[in-house]
Amino acid sequence: MRQMMVAGNWKMHGSVAFTQEMIALLQSKVAIKENVTLLVCPPSVFLAQAVQAAAGSEVRIGAQNLSDVAAPGAYTGEVAGFMLSDIGCQYVIVGHSERRALYGETNEIVATKTKMAIDAGLTPIVCVGETLTERENGHAESIIAAQLDAVSACIGVDGWRSVVLAYEPVWAIGTGKTATPEQAQAIHAFIRAHLAKLDVTVAASISILYGGSVKPDNAAAIFSQSDVDGGLIGGAALNGDDFARIYAAAAAL
Ligand code: PEP
Repeated sequence: MRQMMVAGNWKMHGSVAFTQEMIALLQSKVAIKENVTLLVCPPSVFLAQAVQAAAGSEVRIGAQNLSDVAAPGAYTGEVAGFMLSDIGCQYVIVGHSERRALYGETNEIVATKTKMAIDAGLTPIVCVGETLTERENGHAESIIAAQLDAVSACIGVDGWRSVVLAYEPVWAIGTGKTATPEQAQAIHAFIRAHLAKLDVTVAASISILYGGSVKPDNAAAIFSQSDVDGGLIGGAALNGDDFARIYAAAAAL
């Protein structure tokens, strides 16, 4: 059985007080199920605090980004994978569409960061997905294939065993537009079939999250698709009650 996950991406939201309160709320509200990981990804300045707040509980902490450079050095503003591991982070989001679109992260940079994360002992959550224009032009699958192939070229078949994928259609992120369960399933199945060309075991066992305007009222329908293994949640992860309800939808499957 594939591990499921419900991951919250806070993006550039939060504060010291918010971090403390949200993690305490999740600890008290969420009944953790062993095969459904609960992950919270705050901004980097709150990570150490989040790790401490979550200590002794089943709430896992991840970063939203890491440097594409592995070793310490003169890279002002960068945070290396080994630093995230050092403070107790276990996961890191890589290649979120906002980083691709706003910070110039190419498929190759995303691939390098994926390798940096694995080498640092982190589990990368690698985001792939198409824009609306790409979908309308019939290019969704070729765009996603290119995103996956760049990662494959960098980490090899074995590297995929340490990766969680997130399919996040760019047109559904923060827009209130959600892919229908069928649209999500179709792309998740495509991703699995694409990876199966490399290795059928990897394809069958990798967790693929869906992200894009997941809310408490649509989570169950999306998560119940056969190739969907949970969600990467943006806006709704900033509301503890909503996030807990989304987790409960995954745990109920
Ligand atoms: C995201 O940022 O990864 C995301 C899925 O955002 P939202 O849930 O707000 O669409």
